[in-house]
Amino acid sequence: MGKTRRPGKRKVVRQPLRIASSHTDRNGSPKTRYHSILEARQAAAAAYAIHRADLEAYQCNHCNGFHIGNRRVDPKD
Ligand SMILES: [Zn+2]
Repeated sequence: MGKTRRPGKRKVVRQPLRIASSHTDRNGSPKTRYHSILEARQAAAAAYAIHRADLEAYQCNHCNGFHIGNRRVDPKD
């Protein structure tokens, strides 16, 4: 037989928080990564043309790629 299973208690697996971050979407999966800010801006423009989605292109701190996401709107009057 192969590897033996570790006996004893199972480690409690922490549920990942289901919050959209700059690198992941609301489902916790990584966002589409673009190689340049221009590429990301083009994708944002396309998303706006198709879905009227107001997306912003930005550089990601996690993977150093570029993503598009919802603009963070500051509540203001
Ligand atoms: Zn990223």
